[in-house]
Amino acid sequence: MSDVYEWEGKIKRKKMLFVYNPMAGKEQIKNKLSDIIQIFCQSDFLVTVVATQKKEDAKNIVIEQGAKYDYIVCSGGDGTMNEVATGLMHLEKRPVCGYIPAGTVNDFASSLKIPKIMKRAAQLVTEGTVFHCDMGGFNDKFFTYVAGFGAFTEVSYQTPQELKNALGKTAYFVEGIKHVAEIKPHHMRIEYDDQVIEDDFILGLVSNSVSVAGFQAYRKKNIKMDDGLFEGLFIRDLKNLLQMQEALNALLTKKLDAPEIFKFSSNKIHIISDDEVQWTLDGEDGGFCREVLMQNYQQALPIICAKKVQESISMLPKKS
Ligand SMILES: [Mg+2]
Repeated sequence: MSDVYEWEGKIKRKKMLFVYNPMAGKEQIKNKLSDIIQIFCQSDFLVTVVATQKKEDAKNIVIEQGAKYDYIVCSGGDGTMNEVATGLMHLEKRPVCGYIPAGTVNDFASSLKIPKIMKRAAQLVTEGTVFHCDMGGFNDKFFTYVAGFGAFTEVSYQTPQELKNALGKTAYFVEGIKHVAEIKPHHMRIEYDDQVIEDDFILGLVSNSVSVAGFQAYRKKNIKMDDGLFEGLFIRDLKNLLQMQEALNALLTKKLDAPEIFKFSSNKIHIISDDEVQWTLDGEDGGFCREVLMQNYQQALPIICAKKVQESISMLPKKS
């Protein structure tokens, strides 16, 4: 890369922009910042540090400054990661991205198996391998792993911690289905490939991997996050107790085979709703939309993960 340069004659230093959200995950980065920077400097990075002050800061700094760097590493929750990835999508030549999770919800980090311990995640940035991950376009926004609306998105932060620990992501769905009577369905027309489906839906998830919020929806051997395809999972309006039971069973058994559940894969999804639907992107507010166009940008995000992980989530043949 052009910005790797000779410094004081001998040491080759790679330029890194380190963007972190000081408030993320109960300010857990506070006592670790020095160690993290130390790890980067030991590996001959020249580090520029930015602490975000408000929403959109991370995105804007990447758009404004990103092209000057070889690496852009961020620390924060899913929201910070989403902003940095969004910023990178605006750059013609994308620096390598690294992620040190600090938020309480880090679904993207877990799918990339990035360590939860911050120092270990920093170490991974210095020694990991680059994985070219798919990015989702959502109208003029982006998401790294999931766009959704309905039951799931509203309950994700209300589910009791014990239940989350016991059931993982299933807990979200169970809680969501329990509140199904309160959920207002949306009438939608969903277009993908040459298919059209029109119905009332209470939940929709469009995910970047075959694991849709913890469910191995397609029973493929491995999760591929660079295959250029979204996995869509939509639940139709549940009109009676029997349908509710069927849907719940399908979710709990992870078979997803109930008639109330509609799933598909595609690289482009167009959704038109009768009303304004509130979407979430990577767990953050995605705004109200009547019309949504989702486009898969295949292998658009170069992000560091462990070599073993890269081999398991990539559709590309293993390099020896
Ligand atoms: Mg995929």
